[in-house]
Amino acid sequence: MFDVLEFRKEFPILSKKVNSKPLVYLDNGASSQKPRSVIDTVKNCYENEYSNVHRGLHFLSNLATEKFEAVRDKVMKFLGASYHEEIIFTSGSTEALNLISYAWAIQNLEPGDEIILTTLEHHANIVPWHFLRSRKDVKLTWIDPDENGQISFDMINKKISSRTKMVCMTHMSNVFGSIIDVKKICQDLKKRGIVSVLDGSQAIVHLEVDVKSIGCDFYTFTGHKLFGPTGTGVLYVNKRRIAEMIPFIGGGEMIKDVSKDEVTYNESPFLFEAGTPGIAEIIGLGAAIDFVQSLDRKLVLDYEKLISEYARTELEKLDWLARHCFHKDNLAIFSFSMKGNAHAHDIATILDSNGVAVRSGHHCAQPLMNFIGEPATCRASLALYNTEQEIDILIDSLKKCKKLFG
Ligand SMILES: *Cc1c(COP(=O)(O)O)cnc(C)c1O
Repeated sequence: MFDVLEFRKEFPILSKKVNSKPLVYLDNGASSQKPRSVIDTVKNCYENEYSNVHRGLHFLSNLATEKFEAVRDKVMKFLGASYHEEIIFTSGSTEALNLISYAWAIQNLEPGDEIILTTLEHHANIVPWHFLRSRKDVKLTWIDPDENGQISFDMINKKISSRTKMVCMTHMSNVFGSIIDVKKICQDLKKRGIVSVLDGSQAIVHLEVDVKSIGCDFYTFTGHKLFGPTGTGVLYVNKRRIAEMIPFIGGGEMIKDVSKDEVTYNESPFLFEAGTPGIAEIIGLGAAIDFVQSLDRKLVLDYEKLISEYARTELEKLDWLARHCFHKDNLAIFSFSMKGNAHAHDIATILDSNGVAVRSGHHCAQPLMNFIGEPATCRASLALYNTEQEIDILIDSLKKCKKLFG
C-alpha cells in the first residue's frame, strides 16, 4: 500500500498552517509542491556546483554542464525518446508550444492550411495558433469535447480536410481531468501525414508517457507541475521534424559562428536554446524526475484513482453544487460552481479561510468556460500527497459556503 502520511513528510510546505488552519493544498493543477530532494538539489547546485554551462573550460563550468546535460539524458529516457536532439529545454509548456509555432509551423504551413484544436485547450495551446493565423493566414478548426470531456479520433476525423496540417491538443484536460486516448489519435494522424502536437502539462504528472509508443510529433510539459522548479519545461520533437525547423530565438549558444554578415547555426537541441538556461532549475528538474521515477507509478496511480473516486463521490453528495463533467474515468481534477449567488472567487475565499487552496477563475481555458456556460469555476486538483481527510475538510468548507450564500 502507498503510505501517504509517510510520503507527505518529503514535502516540507505541506506541514504549514495558513490562516491558522492546516494547509490543504488542492491547487496542484496550477503548480505542485516540491519534495525535499528537489529543494536540496537546487540549493546544492548554488552552493557547490554552480557556473554557466557549455562555455567555460574551467572546473565548475564543466561540472555544471555535465549535471545539466545529464538531465537531458534523464528526460529523454523518462519520455521514451531516442535522441538527445529530440529534447529541448524551455521555460515551460508555454514557451515550448510557442516554439512549435515559430520554429516549425510558420515554416511548414501555407495560407489556407488548417490546424485542428480542441475546446479543451489551455490558452498556451491556443494563442500561439492565433498568432500563426494572423501571420500566415491559416485556418483554425475547433472540436468540442463530448459530455465526458473526451475527444475521440472519430470527432477529429470529421473535421479533417485535405488542408489539415496539424492537430494540437491536450493529453489531459486541466479543467475536467479527462484523459484523451492520444495514442490512437496520433497513430491515425501519422498515417495521413498530419502533424500531432500534444500538450502534456497535466498528463505527465499522473501517467507514464512514452512518446515513441504514442507516435506524436511534438510533446510538451512544464517542470513546476511535475514537482520540479519553476521556469523549466521540455519540448520533445520527433527526430523526423528537426530538419524542418528554423531557429526561433537568436543569441548565444544557438550559433556556430557569427560575423557581421552571416550566422551559421548550432544543431538541435542547442539551436533552440539561445541564451543562458535555468541551470539550477533544470538540474532541479532532474531531481524531480528522479523523485517520480523512484515511486512505483502503478501504485501511485491506483492511489490517485482511489482518492479521486472519493473526492468525486463526496462532491456528488452536494446536490446544490454544479459539477462540470464529473466522469468516473476523469482523474484528479474537479471543476464546480455553486448554483445560485456565489461567484467562484467567493467560494475560493471562504475555502482559503479554512486553509483549503483551490483555484477559481477561467483556468486559462476561456473557450472551454464559454462551452460550459460559466464565466468561472472552482477547481480542486489533487496530487499524490493529498488525503481523504483533506477531501473531508474541502467538503466541510463547501458546506460552510452553502450556509453563507444559501
Ligand atoms: C499549466 C498548463 C500549461 C502552461 O504551463 P506553463 O508552465 O504556465 O507554461 C499549458 N497547458 C496545460 C494543459 C496546463 O495545465
